Amino acid sequence: MPSIRFLPDILISQIAAGEVVERPASALKELLENSLDAQARDIVVSLQQGGIKQLRVADDGLGIPGEDMPLALARHATSKIASLEDLEKVVSLGFRGEALASIAAVSRLTLTSRSAGEPHAWRIEAEGGHVFPPLPAALECGTVVDMRDLYYNTPARRKFLKSEATEYGHCEETFKRIALSRPDVAFQLRYDGNLRWRLQAGDAAQRIGEILGEEFAASALAIDEQAGPLRLWGQVARPTHSRLSRDAQYVYVNGRFVRDKVLAHAIRQAYQDVLHHERHPAFVLFLEINPELVDANVHPTKTEVRFRDGQRVHRFVFHALHKVLAVPAGTPPRPPSMPPSVQSTGYVPYQSQIPLRAEEGTRFYETLFAGAKSASTSTAIAEHPSQEYPLGFAIAQLHGIYILAQNRQGLVVVDMHAAHERIMYERLKTALDDQTITMQPLLIPMSFNAERWEIAVVEEHGPLLRELGFELAVLSPTTLAVRAVPTLLQEADAVTLARDVLRDLHEFGGSRVLIERRNALLATLACHAAVRANRSLTLTEMNALLRDMEATERSGQCNHGRPTWIQLDLAELDKLFMRCLLYTS
Ligand code: ADP
Ligand code: MG
Repeated sequence: MPSIRFLPDILISQIAAGEVVERPASALKELLENSLDAQARDIVVSLQQGGIKQLRVADDGLGIPGEDMPLALARHATSKIASLEDLEKVVSLGFRGEALASIAAVSRLTLTSRSAGEPHAWRIEAEGGHVFPPLPAALECGTVVDMRDLYYNTPARRKFLKSEATEYGHCEETFKRIALSRPDVAFQLRYDGNLRWRLQAGDAAQRIGEILGEEFAASALAIDEQAGPLRLWGQVARPTHSRLSRDAQYVYVNGRFVRDKVLAHAIRQAYQDVLHHERHPAFVLFLEINPELVDANVHPTKTEVRFRDGQRVHRFVFHALHKVLAVPAGTPPRPPSMPPSVQSTGYVPYQSQIPLRAEEGTRFYETLFAGAKSASTSTAIAEHPSQEYPLGFAIAQLHGIYILAQNRQGLVVVDMHAAHERIMYERLKTALDDQTITMQPLLIPMSFNAERWEIAVVEEHGPLLRELGFELAVLSPTTLAVRAVPTLLQEADAVTLARDVLRDLHEFGGSRVLIERRNALLATLACHAAVRANRSLTLTEMNALLRDMEATERSGQCNHGRPTWIQLDLAELDKLFMRCLLYTS
């Protein structure tokens, strides 16, 4: 057996490079972080052939003093920390002093830099880890790192690289992640000579809009919550604007992009109630936390973090998001945009224009909601005629599907079924949580032919069914009867409801239904109970529904993440009719 010996430095760097420089995008990340650590205000990235042929980052940062140049490429040489104490409260993006050495070990690298006060710049070249002595060079300020021919000397690694388009895609994603974290810095990305991104220095909202697009910016909800050493801020898409892929999810911890299970789980859970499970929410979230409460040194790429108190972080993030996502229906998706001309004409109070046939309407609405009368039915309208209702007042029903309502901003269009479903869902959830689900015995029990497994479920899970508000009886080996249903659902078809619950219990097992499947089950029940399309409602019923939507948290979306209502501003309507032209003619 060969004797034990130390590995040559270059080989150590080449091994380390496997972790730090997995692909061009990881080299790009390191170089961009170096530029930001050097307080750059303007960074230009140029790539060729997926970043494999060339990857160049030029910045206007502090630069490297001439005498430090050879050290910049040496392994474990860093200007950022000097002690363990420093490491425990590290605020710079880099600190391990291995990125440049690793990149230099697996490519042809040129580093040109000039720090303030130096008469000229210095250039140092490295090839496959061999570093040549520094030479004077020309550069006005800052640093240019030029990496060429990645993995030219390690063909085994080169084989793992994907197509140029794929590698470029990864580089662009890295660029976007970092650009999002530093809106105060200007960035450019050039690919094969073409300008792909030009981002001017600005504020966070502007940068988020540029990178995630106008559609996101127009619909996003701003969040900024603080609790002790924790702050969460950023923008989250309304669940109705969710995307089908995961590509627009950005989470940062102290300015560093991370993938973290604790955070991911908290976010998913906060969206769970309002988002269809096959869709993915879009968000840009910045968690700020005392650096001593988080360890970023878990992995060389530092995209993983470890929280001292993960539970607390989870709770905080979940609650902060849950609160923002529970926007009452009355909050319009966009700030009202009313041109001054429209405002100055003033508004006639709508209430007087609406015939309130209170009695007749409310009665129907109450049966619809099975007696769960809310405080905000038409009586409330009559008592507070001057009060403004965010969703306004119903003016018509369209094709038995939509309610049209008029509010201060203009027209509100409500998907009747989706809105009612949402309200039912929230009520069921609250009732189940508070253990106040009441049973409504049926005058005539409804019997039906049942499968053998359905009978078994009834025999096994009687108490659980009662907890959910159902009373079922086994009449014969092939017949079941529904004797009672939850009061909230008494308008729905009893047999269909019961069979849905039985199927869930059968498929997922008793206790799991109430824990993991609870919300899905309630959503199914709410859907059955919600008012069907083509059921005609009176204005009073419609108004009562609007008031209930306002009172119900998260009623901006139905349980499947579909919107329950939209706002069409007068300005938008005016635009449709080219109203400005009409005024002048
Ligand atoms: P680390 O960032 O962990 O310190 P690196 O290998 O990435 O290690 O960089 C080594 C050192 O080179 C840094 O500590 C810094 O002093 C210097 N350096 C690297 N890139 C730049 C840059 N763009 N501007 C100024 N200094 C730089
Ligand atoms: Mg670094």
